[in-house]
Amino acid sequence: SRAISLHRVSKVYGRGTRAVDRFSLDIAPGEFVVLLGPSGCGKSTVLRMIAGLEDISEGELLLDGERANLVPPRERGMAMVFQNFALYPRMTNRDNIGFPLRLENPREDSTARVEATARMLGIEGILDRYPSQLSGGERQRVAMGRAISRRPSAFLMDEPLSNLDAKLRNHLRAEIARLTADLGVTTVYVTHDQAEAMSLGDRVAVMRGGVLQQVSTPREVYALP
Ligand code: ADP
Ligand code: ADP
Repeated sequence: SRAISLHRVSKVYGRGTRAVDRFSLDIAPGEFVVLLGPSGCGKSTVLRMIAGLEDISEGELLLDGERANLVPPRERGMAMVFQNFALYPRMTNRDNIGFPLRLENPREDSTARVEATARMLGIEGILDRYPSQLSGGERQRVAMGRAISRRPSAFLMDEPLSNLDAKLRNHLRAEIARLTADLGVTTVYVTHDQAEAMSLGDRVAVMRGGVLQQVSTPREVYALP
């Protein structure tokens, strides 16, 4: 599980938008941090910079104290889950979940790890179907399974519940909390939904217009007069 430190990190796209402006946050190993804020405030950009999908324009990102620009994205051991699931349509769910394992070690039989991962998510029964044959909630469980099958050192989630209906959202929210606690994995979770942020985060980092406005525990927020 990784420590993630951002020190006055900025992102300027092209010659224009300063999407993230001097963002500083230290995330402890195993901590669950939520980035909360309205659409366009820079949450995804922060997540993508942590993952190495986006270069940092200014400032410094440290992973376990090491400068991230020295750690190639593939060696960061980070898994991402997106709003649109992004599953491979022509692979069975079993092959989707096992894909990162096969990439990492093509010769190793991934069956046992895929099945153990599926059990954690309660989706053992749908492994030999295709993503198109699943409900939205099942698809997001497969996407999470693919993300954690390799036991990532950090788990990055970008609005993973936004495409699900309210009932499923609540249900999966509880599963995400349990799963990340069981795995003890550092998690950064992006959402615009305050209730979701408060129920999931050890700490909630509120962003607005590219700027980190405040960081607090849900308990501190509810204690406000
Ligand atoms: P959020 O995740 O909070 O919705 P984003 O990080 O996606 O916000 O976007 C922050 C700002 O950066 C927005 O103004 C957005 O339009 C802009 N932006 C995001 N990605 C790009 C890009 N690839 N090129 C140019 N501008 C971008
Ligand atoms: P120099 O040592 O040449 O003064 P740096 O190595 O500090 O410059 O930074 C070179 C470029 O890489 C800068 O644009 C800087 O913002 C960016 N950068 C610095 N630290 C990191 C990091 N940890 N991850 C990604 N980019 C970084």
